[in-house]
Amino acid sequence: MTDVHRDEAVIIGAGLAGLSAAIHLQNQGISVQVIEAQDRVGGRVHSMRQHGSNKEAGGTYIGAGYQSVVGAAKDYAIELIDVTPTLEFFREQELVLNGEIIRQSEWPKHPANPFPENDKALMPWNYSRILTVRENPLKRPEEWLDSSQAHNDISFYAWMRQLGLSEDAINLAYGINVSFGSSAHDVSALLMLFRAAFSSSQRKHAKKGIIGFTALNGVQRIPEAMASALKKETHLGKVVKSIEDNGRSIEIRCADGAIYKTPHVICSIPLAALRDVVINPPLGELHSQGIKDIPSQPTTQVFLAHKSKFWESDGLKPSMFTDGVAGMIAAARNGDDPTEVTSFTAWTMGPHARYLDTLPEEAAGKLIIQEIEAIRPSARGQLEFLGLKSWGADPYAKGGWAYFRPGQVTRFCKALRMPHGGIHFCGEHLSIANRGMEGAMESGKQAAQEIINKG
Ligand SMILES: Cc1cc2nc3c(=O)[nH]c(=O)nc-3n(C[C@H](O)[C@H](O)[C@H](O)COP(=O)(O)OP(=O)(O)OC[C@H]3O[C@@H](n4cnc5c(N)ncnc54)[C@H](O)[C@@H]3O)c2cc1C
Repeated sequence: MTDVHRDEAVIIGAGLAGLSAAIHLQNQGISVQVIEAQDRVGGRVHSMRQHGSNKEAGGTYIGAGYQSVVGAAKDYAIELIDVTPTLEFFREQELVLNGEIIRQSEWPKHPANPFPENDKALMPWNYSRILTVRENPLKRPEEWLDSSQAHNDISFYAWMRQLGLSEDAINLAYGINVSFGSSAHDVSALLMLFRAAFSSSQRKHAKKGIIGFTALNGVQRIPEAMASALKKETHLGKVVKSIEDNGRSIEIRCADGAIYKTPHVICSIPLAALRDVVINPPLGELHSQGIKDIPSQPTTQVFLAHKSKFWESDGLKPSMFTDGVAGMIAAARNGDDPTEVTSFTAWTMGPHARYLDTLPEEAAGKLIIQEIEAIRPSARGQLEFLGLKSWGADPYAKGGWAYFRPGQVTRFCKALRMPHGGIHFCGEHLSIANRGMEGAMESGKQAAQEIINKG
């Protein structure tokens, strides 16, 4: 028999955006039902507890100025850990280009360094970030959507060329393990400027020397606590296939046959996954085109354990930033002592992640270990594959995060945010003033407010 539910509002997706919308509506006296495709809540906040010491596969770092995320942690008595002492270690990594290890002290005078004379001391992993902070025209992050900034909706490549950077400098500043697309040609400079303006605004919130946090025993505890605070339990395993507004009510149909009828829907499905959902009557042309065209970044993480402190025998830093398939190999420090390495995560993004995703998990893990061993022989036999998380292969994310190609910010951002009858949208891709987890919560609250404003 078909399972039919009637609710005042239905929220699709139990990530931070959907849950934040649900809590906001519930606080206004509106009864909400959250439905979620997976067998867990949290979405792209995913603590891989099976690998021990809560290896985070998604959202981890909570900026000191993340008011909504920090507020939720406080509301649900989740202890936040100050990660400031471990942040300095992120700057301590070896640069590896074409298999050659280049120490930070060698970089300013290294023949492969194409940066302008005054910037030669800057490392490739930092350079584009520093440029976007230094040359940022946005006084506040939300200005990225002002029409006065539309001239910056050009490729990040063109933007860096305007600053006089050479082709080689651009390739190195934005060609290695890229966060958005495959090269600086693929991403809008406006997105890069928004990201930099957001991180600068976060720094201003740093009080008492605390820059950021993570959650004790896993960030996933935050969405779990939010879901527990809802009067109605989240329905898990509900893969939404269609959303149909027949004029009298909106009908949501799930793969398992369940049907939800409601006057208000908030849809927090990531854009790339939303392509699999039929919406009727169809969305406006720009809205549908945006869902079809806006890309999501392939992002794959490989979790590794170490059998010995192999970095002590070669005298190099444990972490490495490479232009190879292993991407950024980050030594995690999740214990009580911030100096102690607890495990490793290879962060791979863009084309390398896409390639890793074509391999069986064990083979991908083996490849990453072989890459590391080839770079530094002291690691031979010292690393063990624990597991892997591919966001690109996750059918309910289809990538780590959405990004905007040149021209897409001005073309699509407004249309994507528009409600469609009783269907409202949220998710990290719709945030205006914040990014990451904070952006997701901002967008959820905004969508809830749209419904509340209807009265
Ligand atoms: C590797 C990685 C690292 C990150 N690190 C950080 C960080 O350190 N700090 C930070 O602030 N942010 C970080 N982020 C970003 C942050 O995790 C996300 O921006 C945020 O969690 C997104 O929340 P959301 O609710 O918009 O989307 P999601 O969390 O993806 O929620 C969407 C939900 O919809 C569900 N869904 C999808 N399709 C369907 C369907 N058809 N039917 C029903 N349900 C469906 C999904 O299963 C999911 O639960 C990171 C992200 C990744 C991938």
